[in-house]
Amino acid sequence: MTRQALPGNLHPDTLAVRVGIERSQYGENSEALYLTSGFVQPDAETSARRFAGTEEGFTYARTSNPTVAAFEQRLAALEGTEAAIAASSGMGAILMMGMGLLRAGDHVVCSQSVFGSTLNLFGKEFAKFGVETSFVSQTDIAQWQAAMRPNTKLLFAETPTNPLTEVCDIRALADVAHAGGALLAVDNCFCSPALQRPTELGADLVIHSGTKYLDGQGRVMAGAICGPSKLIVDVFGPIVRTAGMVLAPFNAWVVLKGMETLRIRMQAQSATALAIAQWLETHPAVTRVYYPGLPSHPQHELAMRQQSGLGGAVVSFDVRGGDPETARANAFHVINSTQVVSIATNLGDTKSIITHPGTTSHGRLTEAQRQAAGIKQGLIRFATGLEHIDDLKADLARGLDSLT
Ligand SMILES: *Cc1c(COP(=O)(O)O)cnc(C)c1O
Repeated sequence: MTRQALPGNLHPDTLAVRVGIERSQYGENSEALYLTSGFVQPDAETSARRFAGTEEGFTYARTSNPTVAAFEQRLAALEGTEAAIAASSGMGAILMMGMGLLRAGDHVVCSQSVFGSTLNLFGKEFAKFGVETSFVSQTDIAQWQAAMRPNTKLLFAETPTNPLTEVCDIRALADVAHAGGALLAVDNCFCSPALQRPTELGADLVIHSGTKYLDGQGRVMAGAICGPSKLIVDVFGPIVRTAGMVLAPFNAWVVLKGMETLRIRMQAQSATALAIAQWLETHPAVTRVYYPGLPSHPQHELAMRQQSGLGGAVVSFDVRGGDPETARANAFHVINSTQVVSIATNLGDTKSIITHPGTTSHGRLTEAQRQAAGIKQGLIRFATGLEHIDDLKADLARGLDSLT
């Protein structure tokens, strides 16, 4: 195999299609898919050196695979980090991070508004192993500061959050973490490196669910951690090798190709989302719109600074309805009246997706917990895809117009 030699100082658009290419003897232009779990060794001596780590070379796909390595190199180039390591899913990446950084007696500070499975992983699963987590406000830095303890090893945030698109100040959180001798990890799923690069704002590690915008077409599960080589190679590499949350080569190949169109998708989907958010704000059946690109969003200015001036592709909104039952019936009516968009709980697809968080992602919470999280029964999440703006507005108007 020969690696394509690239000049320095290339722009992210170029890196997205050119980094990580190692051509086989056939000279294929599209990246090869090495769908193999084992690698034939030239002789027993070479095999022994590769297993001992004294010579580079592929041995077994739980340790490394050329297609997975290409995905890791390309994602690291886009995030601007020294290295990246792939995982079987976004949750697999967060598990790997916890296994690598935390031990019994350690403490974590985490936003209370992160992805539901992340709340469970820190709050329930890691707690079984003696790691305690304090959950604090997404937006109030003073709460993060107050939660710090001498044994705090990690701060974990996600911005913007799902489904209310709350934005936290990455640079301020990095300062809190570093003053306390801890690391800051940021889940960059909603913005992707096309809009936001957390390590440029001081974060130490970036978490990805490749299942969302990196693939971008709703096909496979994938995850990754991006960061400095001393953590990726020396700390997380041995965890994947031992614990096995490894990314399948086929999935790596799909996401590798997905990243080639990441920026143009994120820009197009953000532009459509902004137009939908602006239109929803004027609709009489809508009582509130949650979208970082709107001046009415509480962290609008911060979001515009952190996210390359774009709001991302997810818009949430409350439909009117006096009591929770009426609000839920109205939200269901809007969802059921659509004829184009998909009713599903995923996001980050080219196909727009409409969701009722109160009975799906947040359905297992008590009504009191939902109230505390700000998830009303009239809340709808709209993950904008690549359809024409007029068709999407018409699809939402079908249900909304009959509520007024
Ligand atoms: C989907 C998601 C995850 C989990 O990723 P999977 O690939 O589904 O495991 C983590 N964080 C955020 C913000 C997500 O949206």
